[in-house]
Amino acid sequence: MYDCIIVGAGPAGSTVAYHLAKQGHSVLMLEKAPLARYKPCSGAVSPAITQWFDVDFTSVVDCVLRHVRYTWKLEDEVAAELTTPDPVWIVRRDVFDPFLAAQAQQWGAIVQDQNAVTGIEFKGDRWWVATSQGVFEGRYVVAADGADGPMSGWLGFKEAKRRIAAHVEVTCDRPLAADAALSFEFGLMKNGCMWSFPRQGGYGIGAAAFIGNAPKDFRPYFEQYIPAFGATYVPGQEKFHSLKRWDGHQPLHTQQAIAVGEAAAIVDPLTAEGIRHGIFSGFHGAAAIHRAIAGEPDALAAYTQTLHDWGNNMQWAQRIAGVFYRVPGVGYRVGLKRPSATERLGQLLTGEIGYGDIANRVIKRMTTGFLLGRK
Ligand SMILES: Cc1cc2nc3c(=O)[nH]c(=O)nc-3n(C[C@H](O)[C@H](O)[C@H](O)COP(=O)(O)OP(=O)(O)OC[C@H]3O[C@@H](n4cnc5c(N)ncnc54)[C@H](O)[C@@H]3O)c2cc1C
Repeated sequence: MYDCIIVGAGPAGSTVAYHLAKQGHSVLMLEKAPLARYKPCSGAVSPAITQWFDVDFTSVVDCVLRHVRYTWKLEDEVAAELTTPDPVWIVRRDVFDPFLAAQAQQWGAIVQDQNAVTGIEFKGDRWWVATSQGVFEGRYVVAADGADGPMSGWLGFKEAKRRIAAHVEVTCDRPLAADAALSFEFGLMKNGCMWSFPRQGGYGIGAAAFIGNAPKDFRPYFEQYIPAFGATYVPGQEKFHSLKRWDGHQPLHTQQAIAVGEAAAIVDPLTAEGIRHGIFSGFHGAAAIHRAIAGEPDALAAYTQTLHDWGNNMQWAQRIAGVFYRVPGVGYRVGLKRPSATERLGQLLTGEIGYGDIANRVIKRMTTGFLLGRK
């Protein structure tokens, strides 16, 4: 019997595997896809994640970006710079995710890819985890199977609403410019935004609605946006993936089990940032299981509480998103055009400040801007 079976080898699952294995626990991580799987994701991640690992990430950082660019309907450009000491990393998920899994393996975690979990059952004192290649026994299980995985439903957690996001990989021959920028476009798509994050040899271009309904067809948006980056949209090029954004507190533990990462619906409702939050939850999830194995009766409940404390911050992000994406033109004008907006973005990404520190001011500014605009 393993101390812990982790379902899903994304950043959240590998973080749990890394920390539990490092503390001497027997760990099995099961992944349905080949390890270097493609995940539709733009791969922007804050170097703040280094606080949760004793690992050098240099080899998996594709590029480091400091510049930010906003547009409204492809015009009215605002160029800004992140002022935090640590700018943003861009990683390729088919490189970054296997790297994290390998860190866990180095501490003795067993990783089996191409082995989908098909069912789980709690019997006696343990979980029985059925897979395409047999049944495994684990004292604890971790749902780390992302936005579309079945684990959170099987464990009886409330199903968070899923939203579809679309992603296009654009390749280009030009070398990455010194002022290459994280670009955000707010006027083209109703209820959401589009973004383009440069990387060596191309761009990761995404689109998502953050309130209301997602567009039925993303194609017209990509057709307009992709040419801004020197490429042409090829029909059918976009890949789709669900986003499980934070949407209220819910228990994230049950009998000898927890949910981490997007399986726990931890994506930022304002920005769709999920990698850092997945790693954060994986770090605390591993600590909780370690303490539970040591006999601490409320360790898993404390994990839920830790994620709720973090979720208080997401509640503010959700409120800002609710106002911003309803009147994005106002948000663009009175918010993003201010130099302090990008300064705050940098601080939010590193965790230096939380949404609670700025929400009231931001919402007030947008509400006033909206009312004045109507006069
Ligand atoms: C278009 C788009 C762009 C994004 N851009 C960014 C960005 O720039 N920065 C950022 O921080 N976040 C971004 N995100 C969010 C980010 O990609 C996710 O939040 C993050 O991948 C979640 O990590 P995770 O480990 O929880 O789950 P995942 O990375 O989804 O990993 C879950 C794993 O579980 C496996 N699995 C599923 N079911 C089973 C099963 N039955 N058995 C075994 N394995 C299973 C899957 O194959 C998968 O490998 C983006 C999301 C989208 C959709």
